[in-house]
Amino acid sequence: MKIKKVLIANRGEIAVRVMRTCKEMGIKTVAVYSDVDRTSMHVRYADEAVHIGPSPSNESYLVKSKIIEAAKRTGADAIHPGYGFLSENAEFAKMVRQAGIIFIGPSSHAISMMGDKIIARQTAIKCGVPVVPGTTDPVSNEQEVMRIAKEIGFPVIIKASAGGGGKGMRLVEDESQLANMLRMAKSEAMAAFGDDSVYVEKYITSPHHIEFQVLADQHGNVIHLCERECSIQRRHQKMVEETPSPIMTPELREEMGEAAVRLAKAVDYEGAGTVEFLVDENLNYYFLEMNTRLQVEHPVTEFVIGLDLVKEQIRIAAGEPLRFNQSDITQKGHSIECRISAEDPDNNFMPDPGLILHITEPTGFGVRTDSYVYKGFEIPIYYDPMIAKLIVWGTTRNDAIHRMIRALDEYKISGIKTTIPFLEKIMTAPDFVKGKYDTHFIQKNADYLKEREKVNPTTEDIAAIAAFYHHFLRVNKIQNIYIIEKTHDYWKNYGRRKNVIRI
Ligand code: ADP
Repeated sequence: MKIKKVLIANRGEIAVRVMRTCKEMGIKTVAVYSDVDRTSMHVRYADEAVHIGPSPSNESYLVKSKIIEAAKRTGADAIHPGYGFLSENAEFAKMVRQAGIIFIGPSSHAISMMGDKIIARQTAIKCGVPVVPGTTDPVSNEQEVMRIAKEIGFPVIIKASAGGGGKGMRLVEDESQLANMLRMAKSEAMAAFGDDSVYVEKYITSPHHIEFQVLADQHGNVIHLCERECSIQRRHQKMVEETPSPIMTPELREEMGEAAVRLAKAVDYEGAGTVEFLVDENLNYYFLEMNTRLQVEHPVTEFVIGLDLVKEQIRIAAGEPLRFNQSDITQKGHSIECRISAEDPDNNFMPDPGLILHITEPTGFGVRTDSYVYKGFEIPIYYDPMIAKLIVWGTTRNDAIHRMIRALDEYKISGIKTTIPFLEKIMTAPDFVKGKYDTHFIQKNADYLKEREKVNPTTEDIAAIAAFYHHFLRVNKIQNIYIIEKTHDYWKNYGRRKNVIRI
């Protein structure tokens, strides 16, 4: 292996996840960190760590020159960008390569072609991949947007060409909303991306978000690793992902997979990438965008296909050819991922960063936790509130759902609010269990998802109950009840006595 040391230009769970694979491959790792991340897990896990500046990401994780400097200083021969931050920044990829360092990802040309949603749409059209009906050029004035909207028919969706993370995207239900929504989309796009160009697409009313994982080496071999169903979304942001998709057929998988491979080939893609589609009720599919990096939800593919995607990324970046053909790729069983965020589901998902007082992560057969937090760690306010991903594998979809419910139940985090109770409700929602859902699932099931008993008492709750109980038993002499206070006595006495109260 020509790569001996990798710098991970990221933080959090994805930095740790990449380092784990490096360790298995005998590759040394370098972490970079901001002020507030001094005690972060990725810093502890790495072989070396370089401080790159203050906590705000635009002064640390987004400063290209500081990261490249850190790689040079530590003698790293490759940089893995993870997801988010600089992972889809064409200029960064170029600067890394110009510095004589391997960028674990595609060429800057492929990143910029797919990073601009309008160019991506034009490329898809050129290679015969269906796109959502709409404009193929940026639109600016209201009259033009109105003309196009009337042509394709309301509802339409206005999107930022530089878009991502659901920003600069506005649904327009009828003529009366158009001017306002156009203004909002443009100003949001300008604030988020420094570019206010937008385009218009037909709004697909009940779509599924289905994406295909592709792998392409430097020798012209491109394959796909089947689909991921990502329709469980909140404000256009994925929350739960699974594979296989409950609506997929073998014929559609083959057709969409081929379309994804065609698109990757059209931009001379290299590495791991994801082609996203919307699929309507009649199983018509439309290209949405391509993400030129590893996705948050990649572990569901790893479970079902049986490949470590980071390992494949590193091998490809080192110039090695793919070791398998399309016909070698088969799906086994079913996998589901839940994104665990430090957010309060009872308070409109407000971020709830803070100190982790206690944490117990689930384990056992078919359970994987990709996390970066630990007891005593304070979740910083500066970054994404996602703290972990819980991924399960099961022989069938039903097994995977039951395993996820069990694993979520075992997951105990106290000190902060998390999305765990909300995710538990999703797993038991009849529409989810039946696999009958689209991107509006959370909205449609809002009442069901809101009705939550407190299924997950926090450690503080348990401590308060135990203290009260202890006090109660001391004060009241209860006959025939033996209070066992010492753990080692408990097991012995449990077998001998009937009326034992477990404290
Ligand atoms: P971003 O890059 O900002 O995440 P995407 O284009 O990937 O935006 O879309 C994110 C989500 O928004 C999709 O998964 C889907 O739920 C919704 N969406 C986007 N375009 C459409 C459309 N034309 N019709 C219906 N829903 C859409």
